[in-house]
Amino acid sequence: METIPNYDRWQEVERLRAERNAVANKMKGKLDPSVRQALVEEGKNLKEALITLEEDLVQLSDKLQLEAQSIPNSTHPDVPVGGEESSVVRTEVGNQRNFSFMIKDHFQLGKELDLFDFDAAAEVSGSKFYYLKNEAVLLEMALVNWAISEVSKKGFTPLITPEIVRSSVVEKCGFQPRAQNTQVYSIENSDQCLIGTAEIPVGGIHMDSILLESSLPLKYVAYSHCFRTEAGAAGAATRGLYRVHQFSKVEMFIFCRPEESDKWHEELITIEEDLYASLGLHFKTLDMATGDLGAPAYRKFDIEAWMPGLERYGEISSASNCTDYQSRRLGIRYRPAPPESPPANAKKGKGAGSGPTQYLHTLNATAVAVPRLIVCILENFQQEDGSVVIPEPLRPFMGGLDVLSPKP
Ligand code: AMP
Repeated sequence: METIPNYDRWQEVERLRAERNAVANKMKGKLDPSVRQALVEEGKNLKEALITLEEDLVQLSDKLQLEAQSIPNSTHPDVPVGGEESSVVRTEVGNQRNFSFMIKDHFQLGKELDLFDFDAAAEVSGSKFYYLKNEAVLLEMALVNWAISEVSKKGFTPLITPEIVRSSVVEKCGFQPRAQNTQVYSIENSDQCLIGTAEIPVGGIHMDSILLESSLPLKYVAYSHCFRTEAGAAGAATRGLYRVHQFSKVEMFIFCRPEESDKWHEELITIEEDLYASLGLHFKTLDMATGDLGAPAYRKFDIEAWMPGLERYGEISSASNCTDYQSRRLGIRYRPAPPESPPANAKKGKGAGSGPTQYLHTLNATAVAVPRLIVCILENFQQEDGSVVIPEPLRPFMGGLDVLSPKP
């Protein structure tokens, strides 16, 4: 944080450190034993005073961090005010398909095509877990490979992230592992959590860094598994893949200069819309209302696609501009690179360039949330004979497979 907790104590720590260094310097030369002994004593006392003060400051910083985490980001002036119902549709692509036969939901289709096993997963792991089987495995991999390949063509660096991270990083990204109804799985007897989204490890990749302005924007496309307790989701669609505890996701993430974050937000939403339009989905893009933004987002666009078997639109992606909310907590700044500076992308700690530093902005957006897209593909592209047509862009990633057919 920019604000220094308890300024006097910081000054006192600095003063004691300087004194301790001065004492150490005095001890370098040849000294009378009694003088040396006095200096040793003085150094010892200074060290003890410093330890106490430094511990105090760590506790104060922690407290400040927690207080800061309870404050949500501000909102973009154009964000609609209100709850979920106040969100505004900004784009609509395609139309609901008219079916001339009795349609099935993805759960039924998956069962008939032998694509999942929820029963075994319930025994092995618990409810809302699943095995993907047969062509569903190829479909998941095709979705992931296709998304990474499309997005990396736009200058995003591909990443596979750690899926266990420190709780402090989760908190700094704006999630609350310690809250009562948390979505976060914590690992017992450790300070670590399972990630709910790759946004967390990607956000943390430049933690406590000063980046060169010339390296911005830094754009990543990250593949990871996501783990969510889904606490409080009782009553929401429960059958099948719609809401599960573990799923694969390809996430886009951008670190940029503050004045460019609105522009990059638009770019992210265009990438998402192009991806889903090329799959042939019918969807709406919504400008989410203030009550639905969550703590870190300054503005959020969600995409909801038509899921005919579920007979409703379901969220398939979300793109948020978090402005400097995460960068302040994660300690990620930038400053203009001096002319003589080496062309490295980023340097840790102080001294990377000159001039005043600023917090940069972070944005995140879903490219592919695999289970929701499997729901869309099965339900929208089902045929009367129970088969499912694979969208064309995915076929090269499935060895040319174009139809999933019921087993004889
Ligand atoms: P979020 O990171 O919460 O914005 O979620 C990103 C996307 O992941 C959402 O738009 C959904 O498509 C998908 N998603 C979120 N939670 C789940 C879940 N429990 N099961 C399956 N997909 C999910």
